[in-house]
Amino acid sequence: MIPLKSRDEISLMRASGRLLARCMREVLAHAKPGVSTLELDIIADEFLRSRGAVPSFKDYPGGDGCRPFPGSICTSLNSVVVHGVPDRSLLKSGDVLSIDMGAILDGWHSDMARTVVIGGSGSPDVERLLAVTREAFYAGMLKARPGNRLRDISRAVQEVLKGGSLGIVTQLVGHGIGTEMHEEPEVPNYVFRGPNPRLQAGMVLAIEPMSTLGRGRVVWKDESDWPVTTADGTMAAHYENTVAVLEDGPEILTSTGDDEEV
Ligand code: MG
Repeated sequence: MIPLKSRDEISLMRASGRLLARCMREVLAHAKPGVSTLELDIIADEFLRSRGAVPSFKDYPGGDGCRPFPGSICTSLNSVVVHGVPDRSLLKSGDVLSIDMGAILDGWHSDMARTVVIGGSGSPDVERLLAVTREAFYAGMLKARPGNRLRDISRAVQEVLKGGSLGIVTQLVGHGIGTEMHEEPEVPNYVFRGPNPRLQAGMVLAIEPMSTLGRGRVVWKDESDWPVTTADGTMAAHYENTVAVLEDGPEILTSTGDDEEV
């Protein structure tokens, strides 16, 4: 069953999302050459905890034989698609860094991700990777309205990623979100088979295109650890927001609230 949120509950999720978006802005402002991903992790952790929130990725249980997630955010570099673990290695100019973070505020989750090039702009291919992945999010988000079906979101995301000649990561998906980080339904970035529920006001979805400059297949290089990388070693990107389906259309809850896009 897909949980529906009341207006009051969506207000609480909006507060969680707003705090998370401001945290993302703060972290991105520090993502520069010579800074370690562990430093970024500490900045996010302190930002959220000092404002009464909990970073939801910290200690997230791993699967079979995998340790709980050690960081407060995921920092995925270059060919790492998601679940990169923050460490002491220093960012270099030209690195492609995906930052994924989640917060729990007053019991309500929010989840978002951005990919940036460290130290400025990247190659034309990397700039296409980032721009098309962002565009795919917006195409999907615009379909998140009552009366449409889940697959309308997936199809819109897929069309933009394909149109931009990117590989689509199909082994990982977006998800419903609320009092749990991962709720029903799954939100694939491709036209999937199976149940295709009608969207209703009160649904909240983490829409999150994940794409690559190669074929899109991903691997877990170390079965007992978190990072997920592209099988062909190509660069990857991830763009995610928590989106509420409202009567009059979608609202991005992971927004700073001050008209500044993160
Ligand atoms: Mg997510």
